[in-house]
Amino acid sequence: MSGIAGKVVAITGASSGIGEATALALAERGARLVLGARRVDRLEALTARIAGAGGEAFHAGVDVTKREDLSRLVALALERFGKLDALVANAGVGPISPLDDLRVEEWEAMIDVNIKGVLYGIAAALPAFRARGVGHFVAIASTAGHKTVANQAVYSATKFAVRAICEGLRQEAGEKLRVTIVSPGFVRTDFVEAVANAQLKAQLVAARDRMALPPEAIARAIVYAMEQPSDVDVGEIVVRPTAQG
Ligand code: NDP
Repeated sequence: MSGIAGKVVAITGASSGIGEATALALAERGARLVLGARRVDRLEALTARIAGAGGEAFHAGVDVTKREDLSRLVALALERFGKLDALVANAGVGPISPLDDLRVEEWEAMIDVNIKGVLYGIAAALPAFRARGVGHFVAIASTAGHKTVANQAVYSATKFAVRAICEGLRQEAGEKLRVTIVSPGFVRTDFVEAVANAQLKAQLVAARDRMALPPEAIARAIVYAMEQPSDVDVGEIVVRPTAQG
């Protein structure tokens, strides 16, 4: 199967930023969606917007740190649409800080959401993909998964882990399943709002306002990977602002 129309796609972290832009881009091209995140009010508004434009989307309250929530999201796709063609594991958090700040709970949150959340997504979707012999995992990593910089040690570690997990999955996936890593550079979303260190946050907000890409730029990369014929597996796409070092 090639193209986007008719595909059933589950997206985590669809309530804002890259996930929301991806939902809109895929819906515009005829994908049918199941959308997960914790802020259900925002998902409600997004599904209504998609339906209003003639698309089809359902949503569920999903906390990706809970394995059963990912199982429910996949079950929703099977129940409403009878199949799942792709999972976009996009949910992620980045409360970055210097290690000296000892923000241990935030380290744990990054590990739980960014790594375990992706693993739970694989655990939920893989059996459905195997059963039909069709499936595409798309995981959102980061340029921080390629290069570690000061103040981003834990976040960067989680994104290196996402890339390692996806590359392992790709090698194990066999002839029928596709695995794509999308690694964005700086994107204009609410992502930096979670940064507690005031000095670091000010630097990030300034950098964001100067050069960050709109989330639609990343959505287009996801669309590109997904619309390829089923024998074409786009392994990784790195998309960064031209001005990013
Ligand atoms: P946003 O903060 O706008 O979006 C993050 C999304 O993740 C939200 O929809 C949020 O939904 C969801 N999320 C967070 N925690 C959970 C959770 N426990 N369970 C379910 N959903 C959760 O930021 P972005 O769009 O920028 O982030 C999307 C992805 O892009 C992340 O993986 C991030 O690491 C990655 N990325 C972002 C970059 C950037 O510069 N913005 C650069 C490189 C990568 P809710 O709060 O409703 O649960």
